Amino acid sequence: MKKIQMVDLKGQYSKIKAEVDSSVLEVLDSTAYINGPKVHEFQKNLEAYLGVKHVIPCANGTDALQIAMMGLGLKPGDEVITADFTFAATVEVIALLQLTPVLVDVDPITFNIDVDAIKKAITPKTKAIVPVHLFGMCANMEAIMEIAKEHNLYVIEDNAQAIGSTYTYSDGRKVKAGTIGDVASTSFFPSKNLGCYGDGGAIFTNDDDLAHTIRGVVNHGMYERYHHDVVGVNSRLDSIQAAILDIKLKNLDRYNNARLKAANAYDDAFKDHDNIITPYREDVENCHVFHQYTLKILNADRDALVKHLNEQGIPCGVYYPIPLHLQKAYQDSRYNEADFTVTNQLVKEVISLPMHTELDDEQIEFITSTVINFVNS
Ligand SMILES: *Cc1c(COP(=O)(O)O)cnc(C)c1O
Repeated sequence: MKKIQMVDLKGQYSKIKAEVDSSVLEVLDSTAYINGPKVHEFQKNLEAYLGVKHVIPCANGTDALQIAMMGLGLKPGDEVITADFTFAATVEVIALLQLTPVLVDVDPITFNIDVDAIKKAITPKTKAIVPVHLFGMCANMEAIMEIAKEHNLYVIEDNAQAIGSTYTYSDGRKVKAGTIGDVASTSFFPSKNLGCYGDGGAIFTNDDDLAHTIRGVVNHGMYERYHHDVVGVNSRLDSIQAAILDIKLKNLDRYNNARLKAANAYDDAFKDHDNIITPYREDVENCHVFHQYTLKILNADRDALVKHLNEQGIPCGVYYPIPLHLQKAYQDSRYNEADFTVTNQLVKEVISLPMHTELDDEQIEFITSTVINFVNS
């Protein structure tokens, strides 16, 4: 059996190596390392793929979130509601801009931000909601957009984990994740579903004015050369990464289907085991792109399972082991433990199994039987 990896970047690269290598060499030869034609081509191709009017590439997914908030003109003291159960980047940029993060609990089934908890957290200072499409499936965007409309709030989708997934409205209308809110951010970190070979990120919006503002924010607040109208940042996707991403974008649906196939095989193996709760999916096509395949383990020692899997040569991850509201940097006396019962429980139960585009049947059989034998022993 091939050695099992959490993410097999090498196996994936080997299948597109000739194309990637020649495109990268072309950039090297062109010397258009920054803002070269490859960046523009990738931007246009991603806009077409997503069905969104504007993609603004930037340096990473954390910057993308920060720039989205700067573009919306959020001011110190504005409250921004986001999920307690996510990667820290989401809350980090809120705090960094001196906005006030308001963490709320998540849904125990979907792991995504709890809509009722959002409603409860709204105050006259609330300005925005940041739903995170955790592990590859959209948050309940229809309900979130309704709340936002009612309270006049911005919605910033953190789409770092769900690029390529489809959101289906209750009337059957389908759109791509990251095209629903006022603005969205994504990350091209190598292990993401659309990953480059370094750092990268992007902001998406259908709003022409906001897109214009953001194009200045990413470029030192310049709208005209050497005229700095607003305080901006320097955040760029370089041409080499764009060249790689453009090739990987052509393969994105195939990659997400390979993840889905692995997820289906995992689901199938675990289906008769009451103490192994497989990830929830809406009953519609392409709603989940399985950035992570995350189980809940009941009535067994999750940490002992992690250790056992590692001893068997099976890498795994705990995303995330500590609720954000308990992290030193983000504690706030306004929080009440009783409002975080779901996250507090999930951090003890979740385990993410190897998930990437190159998993084979033999590996999945070994992983699933090892998990099942441990949980049932
Ligand atoms: C990866 C990730 C980010 C940050 O992306 P970087 O490119 O690493 O800065 C932000 N939010 C979520 C939910 C992520 O998973």
